[in-house]
Amino acid sequence: MKAMVLKGISSFRDNKLPLELVDMPEPVPGDGEILVKVSACGVCHTELDEIEGRTPPPAFPIVLGHQVVGRVTGTGRKATKFSIGDRVGVGWIFSACGRCGACLEGNENVCADFRATGRDTNGGYAQLMTVPENFAYPIPDIFSDVDAAPLLCAGAIGYRSLRLTNLKDGQSLGLTGFGASAHLVIKMARHKYPNTSVYVFARSTKERDFARELGAVWAGNTEDEPPEKLHAVIDTTPAWKPVVEALKNLVCGGRLVINAIRKEEVDKDCLLKLHYPTHLWLEKEIKSVANVARRDISEFLQLAAEIPIRPEVQEFSLEEANKALVELKEAKIRGAKVLRVE
Ligand SMILES: [Zn+2]
Ligand SMILES: [Zn+2]
Repeated sequence: MKAMVLKGISSFRDNKLPLELVDMPEPVPGDGEILVKVSACGVCHTELDEIEGRTPPPAFPIVLGHQVVGRVTGTGRKATKFSIGDRVGVGWIFSACGRCGACLEGNENVCADFRATGRDTNGGYAQLMTVPENFAYPIPDIFSDVDAAPLLCAGAIGYRSLRLTNLKDGQSLGLTGFGASAHLVIKMARHKYPNTSVYVFARSTKERDFARELGAVWAGNTEDEPPEKLHAVIDTTPAWKPVVEALKNLVCGGRLVINAIRKEEVDKDCLLKLHYPTHLWLEKEIKSVANVARRDISEFLQLAAEIPIRPEVQEFSLEEANKALVELKEAKIRGAKVLRVE
């Protein structure tokens, strides 16, 4: 089969062709696994982190890609969930131990044996891949293969962050940072919690205008004070200032959910402004979001079909994976980039 593989870490500054087209032996599904003929695979920022070594694969060569849509073309022993021809999706979570406390509680995203698709095992930048059947999800009919692919990552993580707020309908929600993930979260929040008012904090006026267009009742700058205190805030920024500012705006017992893989060091001194009575007293909470559990992916796919959420997509061929990655790196963003695999 054809695959675009990564053979080692490099920087896009020196190497605009990090992936190599190779002919690989077809993978064979093991016990409880299915073989998937890939038709579409989304291109994610995490692939840039893998290539440049910020979240390096443990072994090379490796096939990247964790927003995979395809059809089941084979089943291993003890795999009974899907039939040949079924359409499935695969996300960032490839497998977890299934036995530890986290797994048993449905939080397999924080399992010590969490394995990531396209990092710890071969992913979807290829014609075929195998995956444990319990980590593959039916795709709602409303979506084409290419439309469904980008929903499998950012949308599902956004859904988890919204779920972790513990919000009830009618309680107020803040979003600090208004990028691709927050655009999806505001749509989910308005659908799931129709009586909830959403407040958006963003630095640019363009983002604030867009937030109002998408239904925010108020949009202000990071340090502005909204007209009411918030039951929960989701932070998608890489900075610390929004964390401190958001805590100030929470109700007693309110929760700040940080949906960011890492925080930058540049404005870390903002944390020195942390004033216990203003920012933490009266049982305010901070929680981060890590990866996704299966429940997040399957529930989000259903929700996305109901709303419906249709991502704007830019298609590339499998062989054009390097081009798609370079454009993502250079932030030439015209919708989500998806590889169409023949
Ligand atoms: Zn991703
Ligand atoms: Zn586990």
